[in-house]
Amino acid sequence: YQTLRLILGDQLNASHSWYKTINDSTLYVIAELHQETSYVKHHVQKVCAFFAAMQEFSHALKKAGHHVVHLTLDDTLPHEDLPALLGALFEKYAIETFEYQLPDEYRLRTQLSDFCAYCKLSTRGYETEHFYLSDSELTTYFSAGKKHRLEAFYRKMRVRFNILMNNGQPAGGEWNFDTSNRNKLKQKDLSHIPEPLVFANDVSDIFSRVKKHQISTFGTYESKCLWPITRQQAKALLFSFCETQLSKFGFFQDAMTCKADDMYVKKQWSLYHSRLSFAMNSKIISPKFVVDTVIAYFHQHEDEIDIAQVEGFIRQIVGWREFVRGIYWLNMPRYGQLNTLAAKRDLPVWFWHGETKMNCQKHAVKQSLDYAYAHHIQRLMVTGNFCLIAGIEPSQVDAWYLGIYIDAIEWVEMPNTRGMSQFADGGIVGSKAYAASGNYINKMSDYCSSCHYEIKSITGHNACPLNSLYWHFMHEHEQQFSANPRNRMVYATWRKKSPEQQTEILQHASGLLGNLDKL
Ligand code: FAD
Ligand code: SF4
Repeated sequence: YQTLRLILGDQLNASHSWYKTINDSTLYVIAELHQETSYVKHHVQKVCAFFAAMQEFSHALKKAGHHVVHLTLDDTLPHEDLPALLGALFEKYAIETFEYQLPDEYRLRTQLSDFCAYCKLSTRGYETEHFYLSDSELTTYFSAGKKHRLEAFYRKMRVRFNILMNNGQPAGGEWNFDTSNRNKLKQKDLSHIPEPLVFANDVSDIFSRVKKHQISTFGTYESKCLWPITRQQAKALLFSFCETQLSKFGFFQDAMTCKADDMYVKKQWSLYHSRLSFAMNSKIISPKFVVDTVIAYFHQHEDEIDIAQVEGFIRQIVGWREFVRGIYWLNMPRYGQLNTLAAKRDLPVWFWHGETKMNCQKHAVKQSLDYAYAHHIQRLMVTGNFCLIAGIEPSQVDAWYLGIYIDAIEWVEMPNTRGMSQFADGGIVGSKAYAASGNYINKMSDYCSSCHYEIKSITGHNACPLNSLYWHFMHEHEQQFSANPRNRMVYATWRKKSPEQQTEILQHASGLLGNLDKL
């Protein structure tokens, strides 16, 4: 072979221009790398899903006539890391040219570019051809350290890619229909929640390898991987989303329930969310394909689906997904060190097993351990909010999110976690800290009625811990937050409390903060 082309585990893009022609002198390499299993402790389903999807991708390429080497953990064991493996492969196959697609993680991109700087072969990095915005144009939309806002970026993207536009104006007359979304699930809604489409991909061989190599993982093992690992499965999931969930996506986007799973729909855990993040982040399916399919479906069913639902969904992909990627690349590696609020407490132990008396946290953590999945509001307003108001050190929060979720790859995980949810970036991603008391959870879920704690109490033995932690957090950061007009009401409410009440709340919170593992 003359050329070796490396395909990383999150580069399973069958539409890439690499594959348009078959070249007998090109060897493709897909490898289960030990270094990728250990840079953070991963959920076992995440490791199995990535390895299974890589295996499927290599079969598909071979079937199409390409020359492919698929290496398992057994094969890559002798090589210390990716550069060592590549060096050995260059020698074995007398390679003259090395080509790769630009990694989406800073860690890997640096590793490969350092390797290429010393490599004697000719080397070339390609765009992944996955995102709406190419790598090279991110600098025209983002600047390092600048506070960017989603809305302005999103509108530019809609116009540039002509998405949901009518003669230069947003379809439906509004850019954003958020106000018609965000409803709570009422009792009568629970029986209508569709059962999630899941797959049953056998990953028992992969799991045996993971165990044999003593890869440290956590979470519930499922011998049948529920996630789409082929393009065909990803498309099936997308079509099922259009048919069963799209019409209510925005409406119940922020809702949470602990009742649907045991009372109505067996194994209901994702409500009206698409669960397409794994398929998109591994690049099995492209954001453009998802968006085009959803819009085409909407146009065929305009009498059943209203634009608010479609716009809400599109915004997540054309807006947030591309937005956080720009923030990541323009701010790394500094971004990974930011800790504006100087948070320094340890992540409570129950994040690893879910045994806490707080019903909301228990449900979000256990579901994440069971399915490697939680929807956005569970991540942001349940576990994320807890870590924020309890002052948990952002690197520990990042590591947990990066490990546990099926879709967690640093370029998307970190701006969401360290930025949006922990405000550790001081507002580069979001204009304010998403801090909330138990009141928010009570408004958007049915967790509180069956909780050990009392939602209406701020202090006292059984008071909802989120209430006093919230006030403690807002009080602690008053100097920084009070300048934001969006916080004016909050501080006005705090000042209305008597000094005795304030002291009691702060003392109660301090007691909890010293005992987070026991909550
Ligand atoms: P849906 O609700 O169906 O949304 C559709 C798609 O929109 C998603 O598949 C995703 O590609 C995109 N999307 C939605 N919200 C965001 C967002 N905030 N940022 C980027 N893309 C978005 N998403 C990841 O893909 N990987 C992560 O590691 C990740 N970590 C997160 C950590 C925290 C603390 C928070 C608050 C959010 C995180 N998100 C992450 C964003 C979001 O929660 C997930 O994309 C979403 O829950 C995936 O489920 P879904 O496919 O059912 O999404
Ligand atoms: Fe969560 Fe507080 Fe409600 Fe319990 S009472 S579920 S801890 S918000």
